[in-house]
Amino acid sequence: MPRYAIPTWDLPSLPVIGSDELFPIRRVYCVGRNYAAHAREMGHDPNREPPFFFCKPADAVVLADGGRIPFPSATSNLHHEVELVVALQSGGTDIPESAALDCVFGYAVGVDLTRRDLQDEAKKLARPWDMSKGFDRSAPCGPIRRASEIGHPRKARISLEVAGTLRQDGDIAAMIWNVPETIAYLSGLVALQPGDLIFTGTPEGVGKVEPGALLAGTVEGVGGMRVTVG
Ligand code: MN
Repeated sequence: MPRYAIPTWDLPSLPVIGSDELFPIRRVYCVGRNYAAHAREMGHDPNREPPFFFCKPADAVVLADGGRIPFPSATSNLHHEVELVVALQSGGTDIPESAALDCVFGYAVGVDLTRRDLQDEAKKLARPWDMSKGFDRSAPCGPIRRASEIGHPRKARISLEVAGTLRQDGDIAAMIWNVPETIAYLSGLVALQPGDLIFTGTPEGVGKVEPGALLAGTVEGVGGMRVTVG
């Protein structure tokens, strides 16, 4: 056993539905603009350009099972982006699409919380997105449902209510890059690893989260997430 110079901490993790096991989280990759209608609402051409990715720290993931998280600092325009989350049990490099789903342990519903004001500034100044996307507790996520239980959803309603109002309502079938394509492409950029999560992008309808709002996301057949922000 190595000896560490300061006390260590538990691995970031999410519960697995139907068991007492935790899914350990290694890294969090997120796909940008993966639904055409969302690309359009953000002012971009949704033609099928190659996917692009950004990251959040593993410990930005917090379980969204009805609890509350503090309202994030340094923003006056916090946005919600509900997303299907893919949890990998294995990885590799240059994974062919035909083998990509073998890497998937399961699925969850998450929200890619975004400090849109900081992101707008970063875009304008051609600076990194990290502080707009990768802040503390920026990835509230429901528990993980095993693929061995539900299979690999290709078409399913994805929706988000904010303070009781339906704000986002789409279908994962509208992804520009589907899950196998996303895994295959990303594995050409990094060696994917067990424990990696992939946030697969958000449908249209993103908008502002007011302090105290309850976010309630669902993907039919996968599950849900609930968290109050602030
Ligand atoms: Mn997103």
